[in-house]
Amino acid sequence: MGIATTNPATGETLKTFDALSDQDLEIKLDRAQQTFLEYRHIPIAQKAIWLTCAAEILEQERDRLGKLMTLEMGKPLKAAIAEVEKSASVCRFYADNAADFLADVPIMTDATQSFVRYQPLGVILAVMPWNFPFWQVFRFAAPALMAGNVGLLKHASNVPQSALAIEEILHRSGFPMGAFQTLLIGADKVAGIVADDRIKAATLTGSEPAGISLATIAGQHLKKVVLELGGSDPFIVMPSADLEAAVSTAVTARMINSGQSCIAAKRFIVAETIADEFTQRLVQKYSALKVGDPMLPDTEIGPLATPNILKDIDQQVQEAVKQGAKVLIGGQPIDRPGNFYAPTILSEIAIGSPAESEEIFGPVALLFRVPDLDAAIHRANDSPFGLGASAWTTDPTERDRLVNEIEAGSVFINSMVKSDPRLPFGGIKRSGYGRELGREGIHEFVNIKTVWQK
Ligand code: NAP
Repeated sequence: MGIATTNPATGETLKTFDALSDQDLEIKLDRAQQTFLEYRHIPIAQKAIWLTCAAEILEQERDRLGKLMTLEMGKPLKAAIAEVEKSASVCRFYADNAADFLADVPIMTDATQSFVRYQPLGVILAVMPWNFPFWQVFRFAAPALMAGNVGLLKHASNVPQSALAIEEILHRSGFPMGAFQTLLIGADKVAGIVADDRIKAATLTGSEPAGISLATIAGQHLKKVVLELGGSDPFIVMPSADLEAAVSTAVTARMINSGQSCIAAKRFIVAETIADEFTQRLVQKYSALKVGDPMLPDTEIGPLATPNILKDIDQQVQEAVKQGAKVLIGGQPIDRPGNFYAPTILSEIAIGSPAESEEIFGPVALLFRVPDLDAAIHRANDSPFGLGASAWTTDPTERDRLVNEIEAGSVFINSMVKSDPRLPFGGIKRSGYGRELGREGIHEFVNIKTVWQK
């Protein structure tokens, strides 16, 4: 795939970009390494000033930046603007808290003094996806820069203008040129960069195959990696739940970003006694969703980001139907220009079929009925993924069991799964490893140095 901005709502290619030449790539790698040698000594208070300035720019220019995102990957404008604001919030969070997170930690031992000191690793490569073009990058960049690392961004090939805008914002904020650079390159260049001695670690948010590919090359070169990969999050509803709140949240949780979110609720696991009522209300709310031009203020569902995603979703749904699934609403692309797919609900999905175990990265909800909590937990955990989970109950015993027994990086009770700069974020199983955000996130790319003095 070339590096280009193609409007997903129309299919029109608006701007194409040449990939960096090997020579230009070398200049950027060298600049990153040279910058690190000085940048690591810059006081944390100075970095906090720059990061706060980045937050201010994001807040002031939210409309312009939101439009850019919508143009490149099709998310409804309101959500794009909210994403810019959330990106500002992660900058503020680390500007305010990094000094505390990175302070020496004294530990009593037989030494006169022993403590832990957190030090930067060096140049970190970030390989990022298009679905949250600003948020994904800032949640890496804010802690990495505060910790004294420098960043290189290989963004998804369909969001080059977002990638360049992020680089520009960080430079305007005051960060040195080499502290954060965007590399306009294809995925085929990633392995060579990871292997380069100047790169000390890498993070990738994206699909499982991309994660495996990066982890393999990083493993060969013994480099630290954080992987934020796919998910097929369960959304469990038990009979004691507030049903209206659960159904309304179910729609938002599945439809966020037109269904293209790793932590979107994808498998709705509902207790048999309330399943009919839940289904009826869900179908009703789905049929009221406004699908259309993502630039319009009342649009709730925009196009999918690329024609390939549209094709994949359609194939997954058709295959599920072939294997016995019932279409309650939607079930096909919408007949108009752009990559639009109808909000879809499938029930009676065959256990063991691909639809049950694969991630569906679009506006398709899968409904499962279960007799009791044991079956709900079993169904939720019967997935290769383990990113997030949402569970709805007002019964404290059920709640404790869900919190303890769900296999996922996060469990949200009576709420949808969401990321928050204050809370660690990440998955287990095939959803990846390592954490972003919170105190844990800033500690992923540091040398946790033990100091022992007599
Ligand atoms: P993708 O194809 O894996 O692309 C993500 C990034 O990886 C892009 O920059 C892509 O570059 C690059 N890439 C692709 N193949 C690569 C390879 N073999 N080696 C190195 N880099 C490679 O992901 P996607 O399908 O666009 O994004 C959706 C996926 O991301 C979903 O599975 C979703 O669940 C996951 N995701 C996870 C999280 C999380 O936090 N866990 C958050 C958001 C999304 P090109 O664009 O140039 O191909």
